[in-house]
Amino acid sequence: MALIVQKFGGSSVADVERIRRVAGIITDTYSAGNDVVVVLSAQGDTTDDLIEKAAEINPNPSKREMDMLLSTGEQISISLMAMAIEQLGLPVVSLTGWQIGMQTTADYGNARIIRVTADRIRTELDRRRIVLVAGFQGIDKYDDITTLGRGGSDTTAVAIAASLHADLCQIYTDVEGVYTCDPRIMPDAKKLDEITYDEMLELASLGAQVLHNRSVELAKRYGVKLEVLSSFVRKPGTQVKEVVKVEQTKISGIAKDTNVARIALIGLRDEPGVAFKVFRVLSRSKINVDIILQSIGRDGTKDISFTVAKSDMELAEKVLREHKDEVGFEDISVNGDIAKVSIVGAGMMTSPGVASLMFEALYDAKVNINMISTSEIKISVLVPVEDADRAIAAIHRKFF
Ligand code: ASP
Ligand code: MG
Repeated sequence: MALIVQKFGGSSVADVERIRRVAGIITDTYSAGNDVVVVLSAQGDTTDDLIEKAAEINPNPSKREMDMLLSTGEQISISLMAMAIEQLGLPVVSLTGWQIGMQTTADYGNARIIRVTADRIRTELDRRRIVLVAGFQGIDKYDDITTLGRGGSDTTAVAIAASLHADLCQIYTDVEGVYTCDPRIMPDAKKLDEITYDEMLELASLGAQVLHNRSVELAKRYGVKLEVLSSFVRKPGTQVKEVVKVEQTKISGIAKDTNVARIALIGLRDEPGVAFKVFRVLSRSKINVDIILQSIGRDGTKDISFTVAKSDMELAEKVLREHKDEVGFEDISVNGDIAKVSIVGAGMMTSPGVASLMFEALYDAKVNINMISTSEIKISVLVPVEDADRAIAAIHRKFF
């Protein structure tokens, strides 16, 4: 007998038929003798619909009231699922974030988990009940309802698994696991049997959209064994853990991020302190900078290019123009029509030639590289957005 936490995403509980299917997965796990805690997301597009509804009433609602509203979506899911399980004749109880002691910071809309007491969950498990928990929500020190940020139910599940020392945390979704790349871009994409936390973190933050980033961080910190699998087909999914068995391939996955913009400052003075002035202006406006490149310009000048999230592009340009004299550049150019394509793999630390293979693939596909950046387990290139899918397909063919 094991203690298993299962999380089902919004598409897995979108309608009556899907709720019944998921009820079947939950009750099978329970009937095999396991203790089962289930975390659910809001059905289908419920959260988006609620956001729209709010905008119709007030385009600028307080974050506290937004959380009060958005948390209702998950409550609908758990109560309906409880009813489906009741109908199968098994003992079940649904609980909200505050009922399980999901204590968070008061950052409405993006709260961080402080502690999960989970006493109520333990009591219910001792009574051999299936426990259903509303994902994405918590409670702060003012006893107000908070939410954990979009996609936060994954993090709810991992936090509960960590708090209960669960044997396994299964994240059920509409794909069969973690793939070598987005199957919509590359139909030959392969499902991975295993991936390390670090690789998964890189892929999650690069826009692979399989797991909420913070859920992977938490899983790594507390050593929670994760499995990503499909709620539609019953087969083993992808296990996320500290070390994987064999490094069959040099890389584990390829990711695309279109939420990037490139800003180039041209004709900066070539003297100490210039980079500091540029990035001080940006950091004062809380703009995050990713890839940075400095190159030599003409007549004792230099150019600095860097990337920011596309949502920060206009603000970055505005604040830099406002500080043109202080920073001291001749010209600024801004480009939002780019994408970041990255390869990720723990194997690249030990196998040489990974970068060269990637660049060869891009050359074969006649894709021009704007910028390159690397870390221990990742190589990213910036390419024109219209070339991104072609670049990914070419790289995939080269490595897999
Ligand atoms: N329902 C929330 C969202 O749509 C949380 C989640 O699904 O994980 O973002
Ligand atoms: Mg999700």
